[in-house]
Order: sequence, then C-alpha cells, then structure tokens
Amino acid sequence: MSIKENIKIIEQKIQDACDRSNRNRSDVKLIAVTKTQSIESIEEIIDSGLYDIGENKVQEIMDKYDSLNREELNWHMIGHLQSNKVKYIIDKMNLFHSLDRLSLAKELNKRARKSDRVVDVLIQVNIAEEESKFGMKKQDIWNFIESLKKYPFIAVKGLMVMAPFDEEPENIRYVFKEAKSLFEDIKKKEIPYIDMKYLSMGMTNDFEIAIEEGANLVRVGTGIFGKRK
Ligand SMILES: *Cc1c(COP(=O)(O)O)cnc(C)c1O
Repeated sequence: MSIKENIKIIEQKIQDACDRSNRNRSDVKLIAVTKTQSIESIEEIIDSGLYDIGENKVQEIMDKYDSLNREELNWHMIGHLQSNKVKYIIDKMNLFHSLDRLSLAKELNKRARKSDRVVDVLIQVNIAEEESKFGMKKQDIWNFIESLKKYPFIAVKGLMVMAPFDEEPENIRYVFKEAKSLFEDIKKKEIPYIDMKYLSMGMTNDFEIAIEEGANLVRVGTGIFGKRK
C-alpha cells in the first residue's frame, strides 16, 4: 500500500467514526506521526494535504525542521520532553502535547518568555495509570492546574492521553470516556488561563474509538506509513 492510499483509508475511517458519533469531520484533525520517517515520505503526506506533523524526539525535530521548513506546517511535540532540551524547539512547535510535570512547565514558561511568545500546551494525563507511560495521574491534575497560574507564557489548550495497547481496542474505550469526562469537567470550571479546545487521543490501533468518545486530535503513524523500522 502506498502512503497516499493509506491516507485515503484512514480518512475514510475518520469519516465513518464521525458519522457513527454524529460529529463533523471538520471537528477532528489528523496529525501524521512522522517520527523515524524520511523527508521524502513526509513530503508525500504534505502533497496529500496533511500539514500537521507529530514528532517525539528533539534531535529528530532539529534534523528535519530546516529541510521541511514550510510555512503551512504545524509541528506537534508528542513525546516525553526533557527540560534541558526545551530551548532547542521552543520556537519550532505549534503545540506541545506532553506537559506532564511542573518542572517542565517552569522551563517552557521561561523559554517562551525569552522568545517573547506564549506557547500552547496540552496536559498529558495517564488515565490508566500505566507505570510505563508518562503523564499525570487524574487526581493530581487539579493541583497542577492551580500551579500553572504562575506561568503566563504557557497557554493550556487541552489534554493528551495515550491508552494502553490492547489487541481489542474496545477494552480501552473506558480510557477515552474518562479522558473526555475530565476534559469537560475542566472546561466547565472556566479557569481564565485555560482554554479547553483540544482532546488529543487515538493512535493507529484505537483512533476510531477515540473519535467516537470525543477526540478532536488523533495521532496516526503506522496507519499512514506502515510499520516503523
Ligand atoms: C508513535 C506515537 C503515536 C503514533 O503511533 P502509531 O501506533 O504508529 O499510530 C501517537 N502518539 C504518540 C505519543 C506516539 O509516540
């Protein structure tokens, strides 16, 4: 299957999931996860009209950024981010999906202030409380949000969630349901420095269920490019 054919299939599945859940296709944005992919492969998805790209490593972003320097691209940092590397990408990213601790908030705020900009971030929540995954526990999120008041150069735009891998994605539907419910709870509080706009959840294995449960950013790699090497 070519990348272009894969994108068509993913697009159809997104449309079908939207139809099943009475949502507009325009409510859901597909982020192509381009980690480990070559510039040539990424150019191919850009030709197909996908401009949102997700990367998880700072070094890889640095390597690719200049070769792909096109104004229409939106860069998403979706991986765990070490504080000492924030400075390298602060001006490159459109959205940081993986804010998971206060020390990172502090560093993002500091670097954003230096760059004279406000950066958009999502709080990563570890709903299933998997040891192997990053993200805040649900019960810690309220204190965390309270602490973010001190950091005016970061703008919280929503949540990012990764579900555990399961052969049967139906088994992890509850993760997306809980994420959506937390998302709505935070939104209802109308906290002035928080604008709950994005719920980033769903990958190749589970994006259709995530959409049915309310995701509006889905992050798909394997489904577009095939298995990563
Ligand atoms: C790699 C990755 C994805 C994409 O995973 P696929 O299963 O290849 O679609 C999505 N989100 C994050 C955070 C990732 O690291």
